[in-house]
Amino acid sequence: MSIGFGLIGASNIASSQMIGAIRAQDGCEVVSVLSSNAERAESYAKARNIPHATDSLQALLSNPKVDAVYISTTNELHHAQVLAAASAGKHVLCEKPLAMSIDDAKEMIDACKNASVIMATNHHLRNAVAHRTLRQLIEDGAIGKPIAARVFHAVYLPEHLQGWRLTEKGAGGGVVLDITVHDIDTLRFILQANPVEVISMSQYSGMTKSDLEDGTMSIFQFDNNVQAQVHDAFTVKHAGNGLEVHGTEGSLIARNVMQQAPGGEIILRNAVGERLIEMQHENLYEVGTRRFVEAVRGDGEPAATGEDGLYSLAAALACLESEETGNRVKIVLDSVSFC
Ligand code: NDP
Repeated sequence: MSIGFGLIGASNIASSQMIGAIRAQDGCEVVSVLSSNAERAESYAKARNIPHATDSLQALLSNPKVDAVYISTTNELHHAQVLAAASAGKHVLCEKPLAMSIDDAKEMIDACKNASVIMATNHHLRNAVAHRTLRQLIEDGAIGKPIAARVFHAVYLPEHLQGWRLTEKGAGGGVVLDITVHDIDTLRFILQANPVEVISMSQYSGMTKSDLEDGTMSIFQFDNNVQAQVHDAFTVKHAGNGLEVHGTEGSLIARNVMQQAPGGEIILRNAVGERLIEMQHENLYEVGTRRFVEAVRGDGEPAATGEDGLYSLAAALACLESEETGNRVKIVLDSVSFC
């Protein structure tokens, strides 16, 4: 079964990662792109060899060559666009954060279920070989019982992305909805546990131009009793990135694994000493798109489902509430499991 993708959003991430990831799948092509500006749609399409461009969502969704959509507009637009895609019978791969509220995200998931279309969230990090390896090692008991985790994902936001993320609260700007949301998904994936409570503090160090945070530190309590410490920022140039999980019998120390590019390394440290874990890296976005395409073809589930996106959103919104109120905030989502 060939699958035609319509791009909803003439975005950087579609251009830098996702168009290539779609084209890397057998029988898949990018057939159309939507921008709110017709001229931009045309020039974006021309530069990337996309055969059709439009400024009308209706036109994109009524194109019979479009079987699935990849949504990478700014975050406040995802909700209405997913509902429209579902009602047109199109499968949906949506960027994170799924929406601006839990209710909206639930409505998106329900709409896709009711329309019998696949819905996936583009949480790329769980597709990294490094994170799949961490999950497997933990599941195999390599560090005994996990006790604590640390994520450091403070970066310097590249200049070409210093737009709405720094200025538009209504579009879901700020570091929590941009980066912390990914960390939560990654921790859920590798720990196979859900965060149940968080306390966060935000930082305003001048990069953001309004009441949006450009740095944040959070502590999450997970339902398997792991505590995780998370540091995210747009402002830090030379920190590097990584993730550690510490257990009763050992520690997993991963470096350069909180990023878009495949790579990074994992060291297992225990009573015996230190061991570098062998890995064959793969393109994260190609793996995620492959899982989505397989699900559309009736084989398995997407790497991150709509429910996974709902959970990371709920936890990120809890961070923002904690930052605003100074309180610990519970994360309650009864019916959500992890995959
Ligand atoms: P962009 O700023 O590139 O794109 C968002 C929207 O802004 C586009 O849909 C486009 O609107 C408009 N836009 C983009 N470039 C221009 C331009 N040069 N001139 C005018 N308008 C422009 O956003 P990102 O690609 O950074 O992020 C898009 C979504 O993807 C967000 O939800 C974000 O959270 C997510 N994301 C996910 C990543 C991941 O790894 N999973 C990584 C990066 C982002 P229009 O379509 O109307 O032309």
